[in-house]
Amino acid sequence: MKNKQILLSTPHMGEQELEFVKEAFNSNWIAPVGPHINAFETEFSQIVGSKYGAAVSSGTAALHLALRLVGVEPGDEVFCSTLTFIASASPIIYLGAKPVFIDSDRLSWNMNPHLLREALAKRAQINKLPKAVILVHLYGQTADLEPIVELCNEYNIPLIEDAAEALGATYKGKSPGSFGKIGIFSFNGNKIITTSGGGMLVSDDQELIDKARFLATQAREPAAHYQHSEIGYNYRLSNILAGIGRGQLRVLQERVAARRRNFQIYQQGLAHLPGIDFMPEADYGTHTRWLTCLTIDPNLANVDQETIRLHLATQNIESRPVWKPLHLQPVFADCEVIGGEVAEDLFYRGLCLPSGSNLSVTDLKQVIDEIVKKYYQS
Ligand SMILES: *Cc1c(COP(=O)(O)O)cnc(C)c1O
Repeated sequence: MKNKQILLSTPHMGEQELEFVKEAFNSNWIAPVGPHINAFETEFSQIVGSKYGAAVSSGTAALHLALRLVGVEPGDEVFCSTLTFIASASPIIYLGAKPVFIDSDRLSWNMNPHLLREALAKRAQINKLPKAVILVHLYGQTADLEPIVELCNEYNIPLIEDAAEALGATYKGKSPGSFGKIGIFSFNGNKIITTSGGGMLVSDDQELIDKARFLATQAREPAAHYQHSEIGYNYRLSNILAGIGRGQLRVLQERVAARRRNFQIYQQGLAHLPGIDFMPEADYGTHTRWLTCLTIDPNLANVDQETIRLHLATQNIESRPVWKPLHLQPVFADCEVIGGEVAEDLFYRGLCLPSGSNLSVTDLKQVIDEIVKKYYQS
């Protein structure tokens, strides 16, 4: 008989979500407006320490709006982390702008501030600064924010934080997403909390968030006949999904604790194996371990991460390679990249293990046993 399926990261509902959804049904607020949306925006902003939030239909939509709000136009350049999911960069293309990808550092796996500094200095010399910087906080760990915020301030470039994977993380005690001009989050089904699909845009700038809501509602001006002077989008979150989000917010800290516990169990069970290195936790903050990621050095291990991944798949266990750097994606073949070797190395040797907050210790032990078995078989 096949083993029970162990997936990478699945939704994990708490006690309250269904109650909030019932409330929406009972009051017939089955719409992209309603009391749960307002409450979700307020509660969420408080948790991340931003003044305002706009709930939208996805993290990608939030990022698209963010780029529109800072004035990105066709032909502009936007700097973006290269080691990330494609949604970090797709909205750049939606707006007809051009991404320039920036490599990671080995400590945080996120954008290397030294490379950003060099790239901005070069661009300043030729008077061709980017219109925005998209900084990704990968796998539950923030990038090294302080130097990056300083650089963006120095050159007067809006910083947009893609914190889709990093809700619950901290940088010097504060939440990612609250450092830049705009922060975005995702509530897709695989994220640390989920509304099945959804996203949030946060900022301390009220005008900006009002404008985000306006653009997300078809840029409809307040006139009975629906007046439009701009083209907008249909990007608002539904009141039902906002209800789920409110319930999920109440268990966020438990979810972070569970994912960090997963990491610890993996570390105890695997760290002694030759050639295995876990994604480091930078000393400036808390890593949520949204996903537990590791790299394998095949020279020391006699096995590579792909062999392990395929073996786990035969045991009904889902693991994934680390994100393929965007500068290696065919669709971005023409785009410039600053550095790239670190992200490539992490991709070629990296593996993400099942990391859901609903996994049991038995599940984790099974994953560990299968990895150890394969290690000594090959
Ligand atoms: C999930 C994710 C997004 C996109 O969020 P959606 O809600 O799925 O649109 C953006 N950036 C990163 C880094 C992500 O992991």
